[in-house]
Amino acid sequence: MQPNILEQLPEGLLEKPATALYQQLSGPTMVHIAGRNPRPLVVSVLQHGNEDTGWEAMRILLKHRYAYRELPRSICLLIGNVSAARLRRRRLDGQPDFNRCWPHAESNRNVITNDPYTSLFRYYMDKLCEQQPFAALDIHNNTGLNPHYAALNRIDWRMIHLARLFSDKIVYFTMPHGTLSNAMAEHCPSLTLECGQAGNVHGTDHALEYIEQCLQLDSIDDTPLPTEQTQLYHMLATVYVSADLRFSFMPEKSMLSFIANLDHLNFTEMPPGTLLAHMHGHNSRCLLALDHYGQDITDSCFSFSDGTVRTLRPLMPSMLTPDVQVIRQDCLCYLMERIDPNAPAASIISNEVLPESLE
Ligand SMILES: [Zn+2]
Repeated sequence: MQPNILEQLPEGLLEKPATALYQQLSGPTMVHIAGRNPRPLVVSVLQHGNEDTGWEAMRILLKHRYAYRELPRSICLLIGNVSAARLRRRRLDGQPDFNRCWPHAESNRNVITNDPYTSLFRYYMDKLCEQQPFAALDIHNNTGLNPHYAALNRIDWRMIHLARLFSDKIVYFTMPHGTLSNAMAEHCPSLTLECGQAGNVHGTDHALEYIEQCLQLDSIDDTPLPTEQTQLYHMLATVYVSADLRFSFMPEKSMLSFIANLDHLNFTEMPPGTLLAHMHGHNSRCLLALDHYGQDITDSCFSFSDGTVRTLRPLMPSMLTPDVQVIRQDCLCYLMERIDPNAPAASIISNEVLPESLE
């Protein structure tokens, strides 16, 4: 697979929605866009073809805001999976997930080997590093009723400060391997930005304002903050409803009835004792919480008594959905909990999973 590195944006490219980029770009492309400060901000869009918020934000930024004035800082724009974007798909059959193909920072080895994309992305990575990037932003969308959030791969105050400019809640993850943000974290502050559902104007506006804010930064603060000012979370467990148990979101309709608007709890920190569901005619352990080693940690997360299901410790759910089908096929939610960036052990936590990336 041939690298496609451009020194300026092709004429007419900004007129095109993500679904039409394939007409001008043959594959993953890197474009330099010169600005006043030569150390570039790396902006990655469309690693997943159906997640077009990043591209929409860049179109507005370059077409409207900076059409006739110089960018405060150069941009190195990575345009990912244009062939999947054509069909509004995450990726095409036979393609790897692009965001698993970047060199893994710790081992400097690719996770997916013998794939043309891994050698292409390694080449792009080397080219990016030659330019001493200022910071890197990899822009994504996800499904469900989740707020926008920033995710990072290292407990590094520059990254936390950069993330706090995007959202008050920050997710720490180290898995899956092969993500662009983890690869770039070796070289500069680097974030994955989750901008809600694709096609939502609010996500585009937020990404646009944030990119512009990053372009105007001269430096990134690295001053440690008190723990209580840092809402940094990691994934604790995946929660399933016991197989064969009847459940619903209607009161008194089944063995297990969840509270109304359960999905509104996404990304809110629930204090211990938060009511999640009523159990009718039984007091069984109707939820199962497994950590990412597959260990059952249900009893440290939930209580099942007096006909109620409640939380036992401070927890923050994500990906909660009222869709019974999705819960049956996939899971009820992911649970996160706060980590203390000032704790000495914080920087050595490994095997932390990003909730969005579980396909
Ligand atoms: Zn994505």
